[in-house]
Amino acid sequence: MKRHPKLIIFDLDGVIFRGQYLLRLSRRVGLFGHLRNLCRCLLYEMGVLPIDVLLREVYTSFEGMRLAELRKAYDEMTLAGGADQAVRELKARGGEVAIMSSGVPDFIVRDVADRLGADMGYGIEVGVAGEALSGEIGGRLTVADGKRIVIEKLMRDGGIGWEDVMVVADDINNLGVMMKAGISVGVNACRPVREIATYLVDGADLTGICGLLDVGDKPVDVWESWLQDARRKLVHVFAAGVPYVAALAFVPVIAALCVMIVVYSVSEWVRLNGYKVPLVSDVTALCIRRQERRRFVLAPVTLALGVTASLVLFPYEVATATILIVAFSDSAAALVGRAWGTMRIPYNTSKSVQGSVAAFVVAYACAAFYFPVHVAAVAAIVSTLIESLPIVDDNVTVPIGTGLILTGMAG
Ligand SMILES: [Mg+2]
Repeated sequence: MKRHPKLIIFDLDGVIFRGQYLLRLSRRVGLFGHLRNLCRCLLYEMGVLPIDVLLREVYTSFEGMRLAELRKAYDEMTLAGGADQAVRELKARGGEVAIMSSGVPDFIVRDVADRLGADMGYGIEVGVAGEALSGEIGGRLTVADGKRIVIEKLMRDGGIGWEDVMVVADDINNLGVMMKAGISVGVNACRPVREIATYLVDGADLTGICGLLDVGDKPVDVWESWLQDARRKLVHVFAAGVPYVAALAFVPVIAALCVMIVVYSVSEWVRLNGYKVPLVSDVTALCIRRQERRRFVLAPVTLALGVTASLVLFPYEVATATILIVAFSDSAAALVGRAWGTMRIPYNTSKSVQGSVAAFVVAYACAAFYFPVHVAAVAAIVSTLIESLPIVDDNVTVPIGTGLILTGMAG
């Protein structure tokens, strides 16, 4: 179903502008001034500092700054790719497009609106003394609920309701209006926005926004989804090498696993707030499913924890066998289940009997490498049973459960 919003509000900082204008301007008030403003912006993003206090304090620090500097900082801002095209397409469907900012001076927002061909631009009023900023600010957009007030005025003028409004934004200042709007698009969005937005756009290009209105998120491509699964399983298979490296350098391997858990967790937190950690975020992006774009993807953490726990808790051969089982039997179950999994397991319909049989065979082969056949068979039954249970993540339960059984029987 094609949707035709009648009023489209684009946030400026972080959506049209790649980056924050106030932080760019802050570079002109010296290192300490810049750092202080950076802290204020952080406190604001954490929800500690209200927007009106943030703006007052930041603009007070700009007192005496010449207007030419504001213009120069504006010229330094990079615009998101395809912003003009998105505005053009939205207008072609009969929408009115407004650029709105609670932070950037009104004359700059209007200029951006002109450049992109938008109908309106709304920013904050800044006090001027001579050719410089007085440090004072004003206007409806400087208060906490400012955007809602301005948008509702536009809605009254146009005789439309919130269901006809679309808001495209990235940060918490827009959360209220995004929740009211008929359609909301989070662009490189922070976590709270990510959780509520109708659609998400990650990356430096806004060209696809109109496409979202026609077909929603692109249907999941079967081949792409298969590739994603294969990449995820590859991460599992990599785990198989860990015990062999640990045999050569135990402490460095444990330390490296702990570092990986921390680096990955930080990168996930950063990703959920609309930023990227080079390389780590790229790998994550290749592996995550669409619904996972809105939440912390825990599996790599639990996999690393499961492997670390096995190495620390169990004798070397037990640890190696359990890690091989985690690495290969889960992947085998997933691949076989996907291809031939017609018979569902009664107590867990998301998994198949065929997948579990594959998991058992592979787990048995892994354990039989190190243990007598009857021990390997029991270990394979235990790991397959745990794997088949309806628990969300078995990366820790499978190695711990199987490791305990193997230790008991082998000891
Ligand atoms: Mg923003």
